[in-house]
Amino acid sequence: MFKVNDNYQKLPGSYLFSTIARKVSEYQAAHPDKTLIRLGIGDVTQPLAPAIIDAMHSAVDEMGDAATFRGYAPDLGYEFLRNAIAENDYRARGCDIRADEIFVSDGAKSDSGNIQEIFSVDNRIAVCDPVYPVYVDSNVMAGRTGTYDPTTEVWSDVIYMPCTKENNFVPEFPKETPDMIYLCLPNNPTGTTLKKSQLQEWVDYANRVGAVIIYDGAYEAYISEDDVAHTIYECEGAKTCAIELKSFSKNAGFTGVRLGYTVVPKELKCGDVSLHAMWARRHGTKFNGAPYIVQRAGETVYSEAGKAQLAEQVAYYMKNAAAIRSGLAETGFEVFGGVNAPYIWLKTPDQMTSWEFFDYLLGTANVVGTPGSGFGPSGEGYFRLTAFGTYENTLAALERIKKL
Ligand SMILES: *Cc1c(COP(=O)(O)O)cnc(C)c1O
Repeated sequence: MFKVNDNYQKLPGSYLFSTIARKVSEYQAAHPDKTLIRLGIGDVTQPLAPAIIDAMHSAVDEMGDAATFRGYAPDLGYEFLRNAIAENDYRARGCDIRADEIFVSDGAKSDSGNIQEIFSVDNRIAVCDPVYPVYVDSNVMAGRTGTYDPTTEVWSDVIYMPCTKENNFVPEFPKETPDMIYLCLPNNPTGTTLKKSQLQEWVDYANRVGAVIIYDGAYEAYISEDDVAHTIYECEGAKTCAIELKSFSKNAGFTGVRLGYTVVPKELKCGDVSLHAMWARRHGTKFNGAPYIVQRAGETVYSEAGKAQLAEQVAYYMKNAAAIRSGLAETGFEVFGGVNAPYIWLKTPDQMTSWEFFDYLLGTANVVGTPGSGFGPSGEGYFRLTAFGTYENTLAALERIKKL
């Protein structure tokens, strides 16, 4: 009789966004006359930029001609894309990351879920709380998190680093020493980030205790302040302790196109063992490359036209973020984030729980957001709104919230 991976049975049921979807469809069924505004899910709404569409069209034509047709892509990605990434995301920022340290993938969700498999199951992971749920769940599946306590919503073997308004959303070094530290900066869900000097302290800490940092930079394009690092490799010593994950989803609207990459520096070692060699082996065995058409689209993200058009898209979303931030603050809400990220994190009013506020906002303003508690125990009492809607809907949602 076969057995299943029992770790999957430990995962708590009903995923955050399915619960939200159910509540929303129940409300809509009971109130068919109401128009809902959705500022919940972290998905982009602007169409792909014209330069990207052009690049995809010509790549499609190449695929239809025997002379230019391409089959399997190289495991680690096409040179043209890896060179563009190395040049624009690293060398232009003074970081010595080479093209052969970059692994092109189908997105940062897969990489952030998969990367844990090159590490021992005995490792202790540390995560910010609240956090993007993939880091913890992928480690649950691997059997690295111990047992779950449904009342506290805490895993016995996970080290939680609370990020709340009390510590300005800056994680503190944990009392127990972790082996793997997940950092997502700028952060989903809180929309906050660290200054470069604060990130440097984490790099120094990781090198000192012998931990690896798994750094998710999916929101890098939204950084607007000068003293924030655009890549962890701006910090001294990061190449011996950090793996960086990047995505084309939020800077270029590739959520449905699928493209990302992971940097594993050659200097990153565990004793004599090169993590770069391990990830290359893993990639070669389990991944057959991102599509050629999509990699050409990714290359265009770094062209002059691509950069200009995508800067406009980011500015569009950040105009929404600024409107939500100031609109809510004027209404008396305590708001965080929204300056270096497309998320606004607000304190729920009148001691409401995150889910109470969700129901209240849905029922009275017909606005859908995301309960902070869905991202971890320290998210309780907070709520996330995204800037990924249209400007018109964003303003309309604010008008409704102001009338509460
Ligand atoms: C959206 C998001 C990603 C991107 O995932 P893709 O698979 O590249 O679309 C990664 N990390 C975080 C924290 C995100 O919010």
